[in-house]
Amino acid sequence: MTEQGTLLSVRNLRTEFKSQRGPVRVVDGVSFDVGHGKIVGLVGESGSGKSMTALSLMGLVPSPPGTISADSVLLDGTDLTRLTADQMRRKRGRDISMVFQEPMTALNPVKTMIQQVGEPLSIHTDLSRRAIREKVLHMFETVGIPEPAARLKAYPHELSGGLRQRAMIAMGLICEPKLLIADEPTTALDVTTQAQILRLMVALRDRVGTAIVMITHDLGIIAEMCDEVNVMYAGQIVEQASVFDLFDRPSHPYTRGLLASIPKATEKRGGNRLNSIPGVVPNLAKLPGGCRFHPRCGDAMPICKIKPPELTELGNGHKVRCWLHDKQGGTP
Ligand code: SF4
Repeated sequence: MTEQGTLLSVRNLRTEFKSQRGPVRVVDGVSFDVGHGKIVGLVGESGSGKSMTALSLMGLVPSPPGTISADSVLLDGTDLTRLTADQMRRKRGRDISMVFQEPMTALNPVKTMIQQVGEPLSIHTDLSRRAIREKVLHMFETVGIPEPAARLKAYPHELSGGLRQRAMIAMGLICEPKLLIADEPTTALDVTTQAQILRLMVALRDRVGTAIVMITHDLGIIAEMCDEVNVMYAGQIVEQASVFDLFDRPSHPYTRGLLASIPKATEKRGGNRLNSIPGVVPNLAKLPGGCRFHPRCGDAMPICKIKPPELTELGNGHKVRCWLHDKQGGTP
């Protein structure tokens, strides 16, 4: 990716929480880029740090107990880490916005849809109430909300899950931000609505040009939507590649495990059991030494228990954090 084409450039992002046992680092040295109009995935199991990465980028980690630091987080040339809380508040909704997993908890139950979806416009523009109503109506049509005029005065509980999520996307895009962060936006929806929402997001990216960071545990969504992907494990990126490279030559044992655990439509019922990665994501307060994945890795070598691997470039921007691909591999 050329520097000119880079919208978001995250370098060495670290997020820590204070705990009784000392600081717990939930995001540890995360670096990635998002090009203008691109869709970049963050994928991993629950507890891998992907949602915390998103909240850190949005400046939504409560402090205290959280602390965010980074070498830089450049959004279109502005370093978000250098902004005051007030300046960051002005960026949110206008230049960078977020769609959450469960709209029922993210939406305000006592405000109508027009009040909520129009709120970013009343904060960031001096449009009249009438102009805001027109914009919200137009955005409801764009995101495929049927009978949009009738829904403007609806409360969240009066809409189905799919319509609430469409309304959240409308709210996220109403100011035409440069970047939309979508945190598992379809997890709570049935498969048909899920497919509609994903198609809608790609169509909006094509029409409005908004870049998207797509957070998901589902590699199927990554394959369908993303241009590039970052696989996260225990707070770190363990593999980074174009979607084509990741699926063509997955190089980290964790990525290979995630891919192997996708059910295949061609497998007969009652045939082979579904593959899964043994064990669970480690407690971030008690990380294993060496490679954080070593207790679950079938390829672990002696060095893996002693020394943490760094990200190694495999070519074409494909990077992997694993001793199998490091020149020192296997030599403690
Ligand atoms: Fe497995 Fe070792 Fe690679 Fe970690 S560094 S993923 S333990 S082979």
